[in-house]
Amino acid sequence: MSGARQTGVFDRLVSAAVPLVPQPIVRRLGAPYVAGTTLDDALRIVAALRAEGLEATLDILGEHVADRAAARLAADAYVETLDALERRGLASHISVKLSGLGYGLGLDVAAEGVERIVGRAEELGTFVRLDMEDSSTTDDTLALYRRLRAAGHTSVGVVLQAGLWRTAADVVALAPLAPSVRLCKGIYVEPPTVALQDREAIRRSFAALLRRLLRAGSHVALATHDEALVVDALDVLAEAGAGPERFEFQTLLGVRADLARLLARDHRVRVYVPFGVDSFAYAQRRLRENPQIAGYVARDVIRDTARAVRSLADRPRGGEAQ
Ligand SMILES: Cc1cc2nc3c(=O)[nH]c(=O)nc-3n(C[C@H](O)[C@H](O)[C@H](O)COP(=O)(O)OP(=O)(O)OC[C@H]3O[C@@H](n4cnc5c(N)ncnc54)[C@H](O)[C@@H]3O)c2cc1C
Repeated sequence: MSGARQTGVFDRLVSAAVPLVPQPIVRRLGAPYVAGTTLDDALRIVAALRAEGLEATLDILGEHVADRAAARLAADAYVETLDALERRGLASHISVKLSGLGYGLGLDVAAEGVERIVGRAEELGTFVRLDMEDSSTTDDTLALYRRLRAAGHTSVGVVLQAGLWRTAADVVALAPLAPSVRLCKGIYVEPPTVALQDREAIRRSFAALLRRLLRAGSHVALATHDEALVVDALDVLAEAGAGPERFEFQTLLGVRADLARLLARDHRVRVYVPFGVDSFAYAQRRLRENPQIAGYVARDVIRDTARAVRSLADRPRGGEAQ
């Protein structure tokens, strides 16, 4: 069988149908992937992770910003997060999405926020990762990364998606910067002209890109829960003689915590910790990737139906139409 997930046809069908699942169910099923709605919730999770020897990168949920004032507020929230992490002695990285900082209003709007966040992170001696969104944003995200590096910022990294055909060329183009890269498969649904569709091909691309990035002198964050890929990556790292200063593993909150703990025995592991009220789009993406999604959705829908039937049964009778 090709691919890591032991999903059946039904699971794949349900996965494709996740966009049709009602918001309340998505939010409920997506809860384990999110630290909570407030900064305090996130800080509690970070403290718990650190007690287990795991690092964190915090993401404030929200991918739509209505106007410049909202974009500024989103950047303020990140600065506040950085300051709170510092105050509590919970040194962690943060991850930002351009869409959440006003990219929809123009790259410059998002860039203004990112520059402010990166500036504060640098003052505090920490690090900002530019998450990568769908392929329509890749050029601008990489352009902003270059702009930040050209301005002398070093505490910033980018994400590359092994699933995109273009990524090998992006690595070549970025190599002179020895970029700090989070390498992942890529979560966004893309057409075959843009992205590989075969799971084994994506895995091979991931390992090949890792080799290239190590040759370029990059620090690589290996963002995957795919055990086969972890094994391949460890092999590539050993062959390259890459020491702990050259790489780390990254996982998502709520996904394969067992794998994170296991890897943390020998390697640095950082968990992606999203928080905030706007969890819908994020939860939807996570649910699409959950191999047990069909069962969860079915159970949840059945539970809701059972509740509705029970409340009907409990309703006082009489006056019913014949
Ligand atoms: C730290 C981090 C940051 C990321 N940042 C980005 C980004 O900026 N841009 C981007 O496009 N993508 C990002 N991703 C997502 C990534 O591209 C993949 O979509 C995601 O990691 C799933 O791929 P996988 O390599 O884990 O392999 P998969 O084959 O999808 O998963 C391997 C195994 O992990 C488990 N698993 C995976 N996902 C779930 C889930 N949701 N629920 C339950 N179990 C699950 C299952 O056991 C599965 O068999 C990020 C991932 C991580 C870990």
